[in-house]
Amino acid sequence: MNGKNGSILVISGPSGSGKTSLARVVCEELGDKAYFSISSTTRPIREGEKDGVDYFFLTKEEFIKDIEDGYFLEWAEVHGNFYGTSKRQIDAALKKGQIVFLDIDVQGYELVKKAYPDITTGIFVTTPNQEVLKQRLLKRGTETEESLRVRMFNAIREMQKIDEYDYLLINDDFDEAKELLRSVAIASLIKRSKYNIEEFINEWKGSK
Ligand code: 5GP
Repeated sequence: MNGKNGSILVISGPSGSGKTSLARVVCEELGDKAYFSISSTTRPIREGEKDGVDYFFLTKEEFIKDIEDGYFLEWAEVHGNFYGTSKRQIDAALKKGQIVFLDIDVQGYELVKKAYPDITTGIFVTTPNQEVLKQRLLKRGTETEESLRVRMFNAIREMQKIDEYDYLLINDDFDEAKELLRSVAIASLIKRSKYNIEEFINEWKGSK
């Protein structure tokens, strides 16, 4: 892998941890250096969301057709809905040398890491404790009693996977968390594993 190519930054964590807001703000601040991957989903659109901006909102039939057409780098069922990452979007951004932000769940992370082991960095974002998470979800007002219960249950399950990530970010203070995420994003571009070291040393010595 040529070190000049881009990197993948996977941001996972319980819904309500603030990971999407953090990822979007940092990505925007990085301008052309970064690219935010827009996933496809079968979950109903929420108030304030836009098709093609927050997600590509698909019917289950459309989603299944995309799976069959090999459109997804990874896809998973999360909280009872389907979510998937477009392979073409990612490859185009990587070719441009961008940091590709993937806001995906732990199942997606495992698959992306398998597909791109050298260039993938994982960061797990969570709240200082369970109660803060619950309060944030309640404040967001997007959940029914049932979906809140599912998301809290899944949060505890997702936390068991923290060990698989390179970084653990506790989102207590948003601005502080933002700075840390930004630092990790930039550092992902110079991951040692992105380089073929033997090739690099030969080039460095001036021999081809
Ligand atoms: P939400 O419905 O709250 O937008 O997202 C629910 C969960 O699905 C979040 O944990 C989010 O990170 C995850 N998710 C969003 N897009 C994708 C995707 O393309 N693939 C996978 N595996 N998970 C996703």
